[in-house]
Amino acid sequence: MHFPEACDFVVFGGTGDLALRKLLPALYHCDLEGRLPVDTRVIAVSRSDLDDDGYRAEARAALAEHVAPEFQDLAAVERLLERVHYVTVDVQDSSSWQPLFDTLKDRENADEAVRVFYLSVAPSLFGPICHELGVNGFAEAPARVVVEKPIGTDLASAKAVNNTISEFFDESQIFRIDHYLGKESVQNLLVTRFANTFLEPLWNSHSIDHVQITVAETLGTGNRADYYDRSGAMRDMVQNHLLQLLCLVAMEPPIEIGGGREDVRDEKLKVLQALKPMTPADVDRDTVRGRYTSGWVGGKPAEGYVDELGHESMTETFVALRTEVQNWRWAGVPFYLRTGKRLDRRVSEIVVVFKNAPYDPFRQREGVTEPNRLTIRVQPEEGMQIHLNAKEPGPGGYRLKPVSLDLSYANAFDKRSPDAYERLLMDVIRGNMTLFMRRDEVEAAWAWCEPILKHWESAALTPKSYPAGSAGPTASFTLIERDGRSWQES
Ligand code: NAD
Repeated sequence: MHFPEACDFVVFGGTGDLALRKLLPALYHCDLEGRLPVDTRVIAVSRSDLDDDGYRAEARAALAEHVAPEFQDLAAVERLLERVHYVTVDVQDSSSWQPLFDTLKDRENADEAVRVFYLSVAPSLFGPICHELGVNGFAEAPARVVVEKPIGTDLASAKAVNNTISEFFDESQIFRIDHYLGKESVQNLLVTRFANTFLEPLWNSHSIDHVQITVAETLGTGNRADYYDRSGAMRDMVQNHLLQLLCLVAMEPPIEIGGGREDVRDEKLKVLQALKPMTPADVDRDTVRGRYTSGWVGGKPAEGYVDELGHESMTETFVALRTEVQNWRWAGVPFYLRTGKRLDRRVSEIVVVFKNAPYDPFRQREGVTEPNRLTIRVQPEEGMQIHLNAKEPGPGGYRLKPVSLDLSYANAFDKRSPDAYERLLMDVIRGNMTLFMRRDEVEAAWAWCEPILKHWESAALTPKSYPAGSAGPTASFTLIERDGRSWQES
Protein backbone atom coordinates (compact mmCIF):
# COMPACT_ATOMS: atom_id res chain seq x y z
CA MET A 1 0.00 0.00 0.00
CA HIS A 2 1.50 3.33 -0.99
CA PHE A 3 0.18 6.76 -1.80
CA PRO A 4 0.39 7.33 -5.55
CA GLU A 5 1.64 10.54 -7.11
CA ALA A 6 -0.58 10.26 -10.15
CA CYS A 7 -4.13 8.99 -10.40
CA ASP A 8 -6.81 8.72 -13.08
CA PHE A 9 -10.15 8.43 -11.32
CA VAL A 10 -12.56 7.17 -13.97
CA VAL A 11 -16.27 7.34 -13.14
CA PHE A 12 -18.45 5.21 -15.43
CA GLY A 13 -21.94 6.67 -15.09
CA GLY A 14 -20.49 10.15 -14.53
CA THR A 15 -23.83 11.85 -15.31
CA GLY A 16 -25.78 9.62 -12.89
CA ASP A 17 -27.25 10.37 -9.50
CA LEU A 18 -24.52 8.72 -7.42
CA ALA A 19 -21.70 10.43 -9.31
CA LEU A 20 -23.19 13.92 -9.13
CA ARG A 21 -24.67 13.71 -5.63
CA LYS A 22 -21.95 11.78 -3.79
CA LEU A 23 -18.75 11.11 -5.73
CA LEU A 24 -18.03 14.60 -7.07
CA PRO A 25 -18.73 16.34 -3.73
CA ALA A 26 -16.47 13.77 -2.00
CA LEU A 27 -13.68 14.37 -4.53
CA TYR A 28 -14.20 18.12 -4.05
CA HIS A 29 -13.67 17.87 -0.28
CA CYS A 30 -10.62 15.64 -0.74
CA ASP A 31 -9.14 18.14 -3.20
CA LEU A 32 -10.06 21.13 -1.02
CA GLU A 33 -8.12 19.57 1.86
CA GLY A 34 -5.16 18.72 -0.39
CA ARG A 35 -5.61 14.99 0.01
CA LEU A 36 -5.81 13.93 -3.65
CA PRO A 37 -2.57 12.95 -5.36
CA VAL A 38 -1.22 16.13 -6.94
CA ASP A 39 -1.46 14.71 -10.43
CA THR A 40 -5.07 13.50 -10.35
CA ARG A 41 -7.51 13.54 -13.23
CA VAL A 42 -11.21 12.75 -12.85
CA ILE A 43 -12.55 11.24 -16.06
CA ALA A 44 -16.34 11.00 -16.26
CA VAL A 45 -17.77 8.54 -18.75
CA SER A 46 -21.34 8.01 -19.90
CA ARG A 47 -23.47 7.68 -22.99
CA SER A 48 -24.57 11.34 -22.99
CA ASP A 49 -23.16 13.42 -25.82
CA LEU A 50 -21.20 16.05 -23.87
CA ASP A 51 -17.77 17.62 -24.08
CA ASP A 52 -15.48 18.63 -21.19
CA ASP A 53 -17.12 22.04 -20.82
CA GLY A 54 -20.64 20.62 -20.98
CA TYR A 55 -19.87 18.10 -18.26
CA ARG A 56 -18.03 20.68 -16.15
CA ALA A 57 -21.17 22.81 -16.21
CA GLU A 58 -23.19 19.84 -14.89
CA ALA A 59 -20.54 19.12 -12.28
CA ARG A 60 -20.44 22.79 -11.20
CA ALA A 61 -24.22 22.77 -10.70
CA ALA A 62 -24.02 19.48 -8.77
CA LEU A 63 -21.33 20.86 -6.45
CA ALA A 64 -23.36 24.02 -5.87
CA GLU A 65 -26.30 21.85 -4.87
CA HIS A 66 -24.61 19.10 -2.87
CA VAL A 67 -21.71 20.79 -1.05
CA ALA A 68 -22.80 22.50 2.17
CA PRO A 69 -22.78 26.33 1.86
CA GLU A 70 -20.01 26.77 4.47
CA PHE A 71 -17.62 24.71 2.31
CA GLN A 72 -18.41 26.36 -1.01
CA ASP A 73 -15.19 27.84 -2.35
CA LEU A 74 -15.48 28.95 -5.97
CA ALA A 75 -11.71 28.86 -6.57
CA ALA A 76 -11.56 25.32 -5.22
CA VAL A 77 -14.50 24.28 -7.39
CA GLU A 78 -12.75 25.59 -10.49
CA ARG A 79 -9.51 23.89 -9.43
CA LEU A 80 -11.30 20.56 -9.20
CA LEU A 81 -13.10 21.14 -12.49
CA GLU A 82 -9.75 21.68 -14.21
CA ARG A 83 -8.96 18.10 -13.28
CA VAL A 84 -12.27 16.90 -14.72
CA HIS A 85 -12.61 15.48 -18.24
CA TYR A 86 -15.49 13.86 -20.00
CA VAL A 87 -15.59 11.05 -22.55
CA THR A 88 -18.69 9.74 -24.32
CA VAL A 89 -18.75 5.94 -24.41
CA ASP A 90 -21.62 3.51 -24.79
CA VAL A 91 -20.01 0.79 -22.74
CA GLN A 92 -22.02 -1.87 -24.56
CA ASP A 93 -20.61 -0.79 -27.90
CA SER A 94 -16.94 -1.85 -28.28
CA SER A 95 -16.42 0.54 -31.14
CA SER A 96 -17.09 3.58 -28.91
CA TRP A 97 -14.31 2.94 -26.37
CA GLN A 98 -11.25 4.22 -28.23
CA PRO A 99 -11.59 7.87 -27.07
CA LEU A 100 -11.43 6.69 -23.45
CA PHE A 101 -8.34 4.59 -24.10
CA ASP A 102 -6.73 7.55 -25.86
CA THR A 103 -7.53 9.82 -22.92
CA LEU A 104 -6.04 7.35 -20.45
CA LYS A 105 -2.82 7.15 -22.42
CA ASP A 106 -2.66 10.88 -23.05
CA ARG A 107 -0.87 12.02 -19.90
CA GLU A 108 2.60 12.16 -18.43
CA ASN A 109 3.54 9.02 -16.49
CA ALA A 110 0.58 7.17 -18.02
CA ASP A 111 2.10 3.86 -16.97
CA GLU A 112 2.62 4.89 -13.36
CA ALA A 113 -0.74 6.54 -12.72
CA VAL A 114 -3.05 4.51 -10.51
CA ARG A 115 -6.24 3.94 -12.47
CA VAL A 116 -9.44 3.73 -10.48
CA PHE A 117 -12.47 2.51 -12.45
CA TYR A 118 -15.59 3.39 -10.47
CA LEU A 119 -18.56 1.46 -11.89
CA SER A 120 -21.36 3.86 -10.96
CA VAL A 121 -23.71 2.13 -13.41
CA ALA A 122 -26.27 -0.68 -13.34
CA PRO A 123 -24.70 -4.06 -12.47
CA SER A 124 -25.71 -5.40 -15.89
CA LEU A 125 -22.96 -3.14 -17.30
CA PHE A 126 -20.19 -4.48 -15.03
CA GLY A 127 -19.54 -7.34 -17.47
CA PRO A 128 -19.13 -5.27 -20.65
CA ILE A 129 -16.98 -2.68 -18.81
CA CYS A 130 -14.61 -5.20 -17.19
CA HIS A 131 -14.35 -7.09 -20.47
CA GLU A 132 -13.38 -4.01 -22.50
CA LEU A 133 -10.90 -2.84 -19.87
CA GLY A 134 -9.45 -6.33 -19.60
CA VAL A 135 -9.01 -7.20 -23.26
CA ASN A 136 -7.53 -3.77 -23.97
CA GLY A 137 -4.90 -4.07 -21.25
CA PHE A 138 -6.32 -1.59 -18.71
CA ALA A 139 -7.11 -4.07 -15.92
CA GLU A 140 -3.53 -4.73 -14.84
CA ALA A 141 -2.59 -3.83 -11.26
CA PRO A 142 -2.32 -1.17 -9.89
CA ALA A 143 -5.67 -0.56 -11.63
CA ARG A 144 -8.61 -0.79 -9.25
CA VAL A 145 -12.28 -1.38 -9.84
CA VAL A 146 -14.97 -0.09 -7.47
CA VAL A 147 -18.49 -1.47 -7.39
CA GLU A 148 -21.60 -0.49 -5.46
CA LYS A 149 -24.48 -2.51 -4.12
CA PRO A 150 -26.47 -4.34 -5.30
CA ILE A 151 -24.03 -7.18 -5.82
CA GLY A 152 -26.59 -9.70 -6.95
CA THR A 153 -30.08 -10.38 -5.72
CA ASP A 154 -29.30 -13.82 -4.31
CA LEU A 155 -26.28 -16.08 -3.87
CA ALA A 156 -26.18 -17.34 -7.46
CA SER A 157 -26.47 -13.89 -9.03
CA ALA A 158 -23.90 -12.45 -6.58
CA LYS A 159 -21.48 -15.20 -7.61
CA ALA A 160 -22.20 -14.41 -11.25
CA VAL A 161 -21.44 -10.68 -10.72
CA ASN A 162 -18.27 -11.55 -8.81
CA ASN A 163 -17.20 -14.04 -11.51
CA THR A 164 -17.71 -11.41 -14.19
CA ILE A 165 -15.45 -8.92 -12.42
CA SER A 166 -12.91 -11.58 -11.41
CA GLU A 167 -12.44 -12.64 -14.98
CA PHE A 168 -10.33 -9.52 -15.50
CA PHE A 169 -9.52 -8.14 -12.03
CA ASP A 170 -7.83 -9.95 -9.16
CA GLU A 171 -9.65 -9.87 -5.78
CA SER A 172 -6.88 -7.54 -4.53
CA GLN A 173 -8.05 -4.97 -7.12
CA ILE A 174 -11.80 -5.17 -6.40
CA PHE A 175 -13.27 -2.62 -3.98
CA ARG A 176 -16.91 -3.41 -3.07
CA ILE A 177 -18.33 -0.37 -1.36
CA ASP A 178 -20.66 -0.48 1.60
CA HIS A 179 -20.77 3.20 2.46
CA TYR A 180 -21.85 2.44 6.04
CA LEU A 181 -18.30 1.27 6.67
CA GLY A 182 -16.98 4.70 5.71
CA LYS A 183 -19.02 6.49 8.37
CA GLU A 184 -16.95 7.99 11.18
CA SER A 185 -19.05 6.50 13.97
CA VAL A 186 -18.79 3.03 12.45
CA GLN A 187 -15.01 3.28 12.34
CA ASN A 188 -15.13 4.67 15.85
CA LEU A 189 -16.86 1.48 16.92
CA LEU A 190 -13.61 -0.31 16.03
CA VAL A 191 -11.62 2.25 18.01
CA THR A 192 -14.00 2.07 20.98
CA ARG A 193 -13.77 -1.70 21.08
CA PHE A 194 -10.09 -2.20 20.30
CA ALA A 195 -8.26 0.87 21.64
CA ASN A 196 -9.85 0.81 25.10
CA THR A 197 -9.78 -1.79 27.83
CA PHE A 198 -12.94 -1.14 29.78
CA LEU A 199 -15.35 -2.74 27.32
CA GLU A 200 -13.53 -5.88 26.23
CA PRO A 201 -14.06 -7.90 29.46
CA LEU A 202 -17.78 -7.12 29.18
CA TRP A 203 -18.11 -7.72 25.44
CA ASN A 204 -19.60 -11.20 25.53
CA SER A 205 -22.58 -13.29 26.62
CA HIS A 206 -21.65 -13.00 30.31
CA SER A 207 -22.40 -9.28 30.41
CA ILE A 208 -24.37 -8.44 27.28
CA ASP A 209 -28.07 -9.25 27.27
CA HIS A 210 -28.74 -8.47 23.62
CA VAL A 211 -27.86 -6.16 20.72
CA GLN A 212 -30.21 -4.04 18.61
CA ILE A 213 -29.37 -2.59 15.22
CA THR A 214 -31.83 -0.12 13.72
CA VAL A 215 -31.64 1.64 10.37
CA ALA A 216 -34.83 3.69 10.05
CA GLU A 217 -35.68 6.07 7.22
CA THR A 218 -38.47 8.60 6.89
CA LEU A 219 -38.14 8.69 3.10
CA GLY A 220 -40.08 6.43 0.77
CA THR A 221 -38.67 4.88 -2.37
CA GLY A 222 -38.62 8.18 -4.32
CA ASN A 223 -37.35 7.89 -7.87
CA ARG A 224 -35.84 4.46 -7.18
CA ALA A 225 -39.28 2.81 -6.87
CA ASP A 226 -38.79 0.33 -9.73
CA TYR A 227 -35.35 -0.71 -8.52
CA TYR A 228 -36.60 -0.97 -4.96
CA ASP A 229 -39.60 -3.06 -5.92
CA ARG A 230 -37.26 -5.70 -7.36
CA SER A 231 -35.16 -5.56 -4.21
CA GLY A 232 -37.00 -4.84 -0.94
CA ALA A 233 -35.63 -4.08 2.50
CA MET A 234 -33.95 -7.45 3.03
CA ARG A 235 -31.85 -7.25 -0.13
CA ASP A 236 -31.40 -3.47 -0.12
CA MET A 237 -30.42 -3.01 3.55
CA VAL A 238 -30.13 -6.17 5.66
CA GLN A 239 -27.88 -8.25 3.37
CA ASN A 240 -25.29 -5.49 3.30
CA HIS A 241 -25.48 -2.54 5.73
CA LEU A 242 -27.12 -4.21 8.74
CA LEU A 243 -25.06 -7.40 8.53
CA GLN A 244 -21.89 -5.36 8.15
CA LEU A 245 -22.73 -3.41 11.32
CA LEU A 246 -23.48 -6.68 13.11
CA CYS A 247 -20.07 -8.00 12.03
CA LEU A 248 -18.26 -5.01 13.51
CA VAL A 249 -20.08 -5.43 16.83
CA ALA A 250 -19.51 -9.18 17.02
CA MET A 251 -16.07 -9.74 15.45
CA GLU A 252 -13.03 -10.90 17.39
CA PRO A 253 -10.13 -8.44 17.86
CA PRO A 254 -8.11 -8.31 14.63
CA ILE A 255 -4.32 -8.39 14.70
CA GLU A 256 -4.05 -5.16 12.78
CA ILE A 257 -6.50 -2.57 11.50
CA GLY A 258 -5.74 -0.59 8.37
CA GLY A 259 -2.24 -1.87 7.78
CA GLY A 260 -3.04 -3.51 4.47
CA ARG A 261 -3.69 -6.90 6.09
CA GLU A 262 -6.84 -8.97 5.81
CA ASP A 263 -7.51 -9.35 9.56
CA VAL A 264 -10.67 -7.26 9.78
CA ARG A 265 -12.23 -8.91 6.75
CA ASP A 266 -11.22 -12.37 8.00
CA GLU A 267 -12.88 -11.71 11.35
CA LYS A 268 -16.05 -10.29 9.77
CA LEU A 269 -16.33 -13.37 7.57
CA LYS A 270 -16.19 -15.62 10.64
CA VAL A 271 -19.14 -13.74 12.14
CA LEU A 272 -21.20 -14.17 8.98
CA GLN A 273 -20.36 -17.86 8.97
CA ALA A 274 -21.43 -18.13 12.62
CA LEU A 275 -24.90 -16.61 12.08
CA LYS A 276 -27.54 -19.14 13.05
CA PRO A 277 -29.02 -20.55 9.83
CA MET A 278 -32.77 -20.03 9.57
CA THR A 279 -35.12 -22.95 8.99
CA PRO A 280 -38.59 -22.19 7.58
CA ALA A 281 -39.97 -22.43 11.14
CA ASP A 282 -37.30 -19.94 12.32
CA VAL A 283 -38.24 -17.59 9.50
CA ASP A 284 -41.91 -17.73 10.53
CA ARG A 285 -41.03 -17.08 14.16
CA ASP A 286 -38.02 -14.76 13.97
CA THR A 287 -38.65 -12.46 11.00
CA VAL A 288 -41.26 -9.80 10.24
CA ARG A 289 -41.88 -8.25 6.83
CA GLY A 290 -43.77 -4.98 6.62
CA ARG A 291 -45.00 -2.55 4.02
CA TYR A 292 -46.18 1.00 4.53
CA THR A 293 -49.69 2.14 3.82
CA SER A 294 -50.70 5.81 3.61
CA GLY A 295 -50.06 7.98 6.64
CA TRP A 296 -48.36 11.16 7.80
CA VAL A 297 -44.59 11.74 7.85
CA GLY A 298 -43.20 14.95 9.33
CA GLY A 299 -46.66 16.54 9.31
CA LYS A 300 -47.22 15.83 5.61
CA PRO A 301 -49.50 13.22 4.07
CA ALA A 302 -47.65 10.27 2.54
CA GLU A 303 -48.96 7.75 0.05
CA GLY A 304 -48.79 4.04 0.67
CA TYR A 305 -46.12 1.98 -1.09
CA VAL A 306 -48.47 0.30 -3.57
CA ASP A 307 -50.11 3.61 -4.56
CA GLU A 308 -46.68 5.20 -5.03
CA LEU A 309 -45.60 2.29 -7.17
CA GLY A 310 -48.79 2.18 -9.22
CA HIS A 311 -49.25 -1.58 -9.15
CA GLU A 312 -49.70 -4.47 -6.72
CA SER A 313 -46.51 -5.83 -5.20
CA MET A 314 -45.30 -8.32 -2.60
CA THR A 315 -42.12 -6.35 -1.80
CA GLU A 316 -41.35 -5.48 1.83
CA THR A 317 -40.32 -1.98 2.88
CA PHE A 318 -39.60 -3.09 6.46
CA VAL A 319 -37.81 -6.03 8.04
CA ALA A 320 -37.29 -6.95 11.67
CA LEU A 321 -35.53 -10.13 12.66
CA ARG A 322 -33.87 -11.93 15.50
CA THR A 323 -30.68 -13.86 15.01
CA GLU A 324 -27.77 -15.27 16.99
CA VAL A 325 -24.04 -15.54 16.45
CA GLN A 326 -23.18 -19.12 17.27
CA ASN A 327 -19.74 -18.95 18.80
CA TRP A 328 -18.12 -18.98 22.22
CA ARG A 329 -18.36 -15.23 22.78
CA TRP A 330 -21.99 -14.73 21.75
CA ALA A 331 -23.84 -18.01 22.40
CA GLY A 332 -27.38 -17.24 23.54
CA VAL A 333 -27.21 -13.46 22.91
CA PRO A 334 -29.97 -12.33 20.53
CA PHE A 335 -29.19 -9.75 17.86
CA TYR A 336 -32.35 -7.89 16.83
CA LEU A 337 -32.17 -6.10 13.49
CA ARG A 338 -34.77 -3.80 11.95
CA THR A 339 -34.88 -1.46 9.03
CA GLY A 340 -37.63 0.27 7.11
CA LYS A 341 -38.80 3.15 5.00
CA ARG A 342 -41.39 5.81 5.80
CA LEU A 343 -40.93 5.37 9.53
CA ASP A 344 -41.46 8.00 12.21
CA ARG A 345 -37.78 8.94 12.45
CA ARG A 346 -34.51 8.82 10.57
CA VAL A 347 -31.93 7.09 12.65
CA SER A 348 -29.20 4.46 12.32
CA GLU A 349 -27.90 3.13 15.57
CA ILE A 350 -26.49 0.16 17.37
CA VAL A 351 -27.63 -0.40 20.94
CA VAL A 352 -25.75 -2.86 23.13
CA VAL A 353 -27.89 -3.69 26.16
CA PHE A 354 -26.05 -5.08 29.16
CA LYS A 355 -27.43 -7.52 31.70
CA ASN A 356 -28.91 -6.31 34.93
CA ALA A 357 -26.74 -6.28 38.03
CA PRO A 358 -26.80 -9.75 39.58
CA TYR A 359 -28.17 -8.40 42.84
CA ASP A 360 -30.03 -5.21 43.65
CA PRO A 361 -29.03 -3.73 47.02
CA PHE A 362 -31.36 -0.74 46.48
CA ARG A 363 -34.51 -2.72 47.04
CA GLN A 364 -35.98 -0.02 49.24
CA ARG A 365 -35.14 2.72 46.77
CA GLU A 366 -37.46 5.03 44.95
CA GLY A 367 -37.16 5.61 41.21
CA VAL A 368 -36.15 3.10 38.56
CA THR A 369 -33.07 1.32 37.32
CA GLU A 370 -32.53 0.44 33.72
CA PRO A 371 -29.98 -1.92 32.22
CA ASN A 372 -26.76 -0.21 31.11
CA ARG A 373 -26.70 0.51 27.41
CA LEU A 374 -24.08 1.61 24.93
CA THR A 375 -25.60 3.40 21.96
CA ILE A 376 -23.55 4.04 18.84
CA ARG A 377 -25.35 6.62 16.76
CA VAL A 378 -24.39 6.30 13.09
CA GLN A 379 -26.79 8.98 11.86
CA PRO A 380 -28.03 11.66 12.00
CA GLU A 381 -25.78 13.18 14.72
CA GLU A 382 -22.87 10.77 14.93
CA GLY A 383 -21.85 9.92 18.46
CA MET A 384 -21.95 7.53 21.35
CA GLN A 385 -23.88 7.37 24.61
CA ILE A 386 -23.41 5.26 27.71
CA HIS A 387 -26.59 4.94 29.72
CA LEU A 388 -26.19 4.23 33.40
CA ASN A 389 -28.03 4.62 36.66
CA ALA A 390 -27.13 7.48 39.00
CA LYS A 391 -28.29 8.74 42.34
CA GLU A 392 -30.53 11.73 42.02
CA PRO A 393 -29.07 14.43 44.31
CA GLY A 394 -30.94 14.91 47.56
CA PRO A 395 -31.00 13.83 51.17
CA GLY A 396 -32.99 10.94 52.42
CA GLY A 397 -32.25 7.66 50.76
CA TYR A 398 -31.45 6.59 47.27
CA ARG A 399 -33.53 7.82 44.42
CA LEU A 400 -32.08 6.34 41.24
CA LYS A 401 -32.34 7.81 37.81
CA PRO A 402 -31.09 6.66 34.39
CA VAL A 403 -28.63 9.22 32.96
CA SER A 404 -26.36 9.22 29.93
CA LEU A 405 -22.76 10.10 29.17
CA ASP A 406 -22.89 11.68 25.79
CA LEU A 407 -20.16 11.84 23.18
CA SER A 408 -21.35 13.96 20.32
CA TYR A 409 -18.81 14.04 17.52
CA ALA A 410 -19.79 17.56 16.59
CA ASN A 411 -19.12 18.78 20.15
CA ALA A 412 -16.09 16.64 21.02
CA PHE A 413 -14.06 17.37 17.89
CA ASP A 414 -13.69 20.77 16.39
CA LYS A 415 -13.63 19.20 12.95
CA ARG A 416 -15.99 18.57 10.10
CA SER A 417 -17.14 14.96 10.02
CA PRO A 418 -16.36 13.85 6.46
CA ASP A 419 -18.90 12.05 4.34
CA ALA A 420 -18.35 8.29 4.17
CA TYR A 421 -17.46 8.50 0.48
CA GLU A 422 -14.51 10.82 1.17
CA ARG A 423 -12.86 8.25 3.38
CA LEU A 424 -13.67 5.39 1.04
CA LEU A 425 -12.52 7.10 -2.16
CA MET A 426 -9.20 7.98 -0.53
CA ASP A 427 -8.85 4.36 0.62
CA VAL A 428 -9.38 3.20 -2.96
CA ILE A 429 -6.68 5.57 -4.20
CA ARG A 430 -4.39 4.45 -1.40
CA GLY A 431 -5.19 0.78 -1.98
CA ASN A 432 -6.51 0.16 1.54
CA MET A 433 -9.18 -2.56 1.35
CA THR A 434 -10.06 -2.88 5.06
CA LEU A 435 -13.38 -1.05 4.80
CA PHE A 436 -14.51 -2.82 1.62
CA MET A 437 -16.37 -6.09 1.38
CA ARG A 438 -14.46 -9.09 0.20
CA ARG A 439 -16.08 -11.56 -2.16
CA ASP A 440 -16.45 -14.30 0.46
CA GLU A 441 -18.14 -11.86 2.86
CA VAL A 442 -20.71 -10.81 0.28
CA GLU A 443 -21.43 -14.40 -0.61
CA ALA A 444 -21.62 -15.54 3.03
CA ALA A 445 -24.14 -12.76 3.70
CA TRP A 446 -26.25 -13.89 0.74
CA ALA A 447 -25.99 -17.53 1.84
CA TRP A 448 -27.47 -16.56 5.21
CA CYS A 449 -30.22 -14.36 3.74
CA GLU A 450 -31.28 -16.79 1.05
CA PRO A 451 -33.37 -19.24 3.14
CA ILE A 452 -35.27 -16.25 4.53
CA LEU A 453 -35.96 -14.83 1.08
CA LYS A 454 -36.90 -18.26 -0.29
CA HIS A 455 -39.31 -19.00 2.53
CA TRP A 456 -40.97 -15.61 2.21
CA GLU A 457 -41.34 -16.20 -1.50
CA SER A 458 -42.79 -19.67 -1.15
CA ALA A 459 -45.17 -18.64 1.63
CA ALA A 460 -46.33 -15.77 -0.65
CA LEU A 461 -47.66 -13.78 2.31
CA THR A 462 -48.40 -10.11 1.84
CA PRO A 463 -46.12 -8.06 4.13
CA LYS A 464 -47.74 -6.74 7.29
CA SER A 465 -49.07 -3.20 6.99
CA TYR A 466 -47.82 -0.20 8.93
CA PRO A 467 -48.95 3.38 8.42
CA ALA A 468 -46.33 5.72 6.94
CA GLY A 469 -44.91 7.76 9.82
CA SER A 470 -45.33 4.98 12.40
CA ALA A 471 -42.63 2.89 14.11
CA GLY A 472 -43.32 -0.16 11.95
CA PRO A 473 -45.72 -3.10 12.05
CA THR A 474 -47.03 -4.26 15.42
CA ALA A 475 -45.48 -7.67 14.79
CA SER A 476 -41.99 -6.12 15.02
CA PHE A 477 -42.75 -5.17 18.62
CA THR A 478 -44.14 -8.61 19.39
CA LEU A 479 -40.92 -10.13 17.97
CA ILE A 480 -38.80 -8.55 20.70
CA GLU A 481 -41.39 -8.24 23.47
CA ARG A 482 -42.07 -11.97 23.56
CA ASP A 483 -38.44 -12.29 24.78
CA GLY A 484 -39.20 -9.81 27.60
CA ARG A 485 -37.28 -7.02 25.87
CA SER A 486 -38.21 -3.87 23.99
CA TRP A 487 -36.84 -1.70 21.19
CA GLN A 488 -34.77 1.15 22.59
CA GLU A 489 -35.76 4.55 21.23
CA SER A 490 -33.06 7.09 22.06
P1 NAD B 1 -28.26 6.49 -12.59
O1 NAD B 1 -29.30 5.76 -13.37
O2 NAD B 1 -28.58 7.82 -12.04
O3 NAD B 1 -26.95 6.66 -13.50
C1 NAD B 1 -26.50 5.67 -14.38
C2 NAD B 1 -25.37 6.21 -15.21
O4 NAD B 1 -24.97 5.17 -16.11
C3 NAD B 1 -25.71 7.43 -16.07
O5 NAD B 1 -24.59 8.29 -16.10
C4 NAD B 1 -25.88 6.82 -17.47
O6 NAD B 1 -25.58 7.73 -18.52
C5 NAD B 1 -24.84 5.73 -17.43
N1 NAD B 1 -25.08 4.69 -18.43
C6 NAD B 1 -26.19 3.92 -18.57
N2 NAD B 1 -26.03 3.09 -19.61
C7 NAD B 1 -24.80 3.34 -20.14
C8 NAD B 1 -24.06 2.80 -21.23
N3 NAD B 1 -24.55 1.83 -21.99
N4 NAD B 1 -22.84 3.30 -21.46
C9 NAD B 1 -22.32 4.29 -20.69
N5 NAD B 1 -22.97 4.82 -19.65
C10 NAD B 1 -24.20 4.35 -19.38
O7 NAD B 1 -27.79 5.47 -11.47
P2 NAD B 1 -27.15 5.84 -10.03
O8 NAD B 1 -28.26 6.09 -9.08
O9 NAD B 1 -26.12 6.87 -10.20
O10 NAD B 1 -26.51 4.44 -9.59
C11 NAD B 1 -25.33 3.92 -10.16
C12 NAD B 1 -25.01 2.58 -9.51
O11 NAD B 1 -24.77 2.78 -8.12
C13 NAD B 1 -26.14 1.56 -9.60
O12 NAD B 1 -25.58 0.27 -9.66
C14 NAD B 1 -26.86 1.73 -8.27
O13 NAD B 1 -27.55 0.57 -7.88
C15 NAD B 1 -25.68 2.01 -7.36
N6 NAD B 1 -26.06 2.78 -6.16
C16 NAD B 1 -26.57 4.03 -6.26
C17 NAD B 1 -26.89 4.74 -5.12
C18 NAD B 1 -27.42 6.15 -5.19
O14 NAD B 1 -27.53 6.77 -4.13
N7 NAD B 1 -27.74 6.67 -6.36
C19 NAD B 1 -26.68 4.17 -3.86
C20 NAD B 1 -26.14 2.90 -3.78
C21 NAD B 1 -25.84 2.21 -4.93
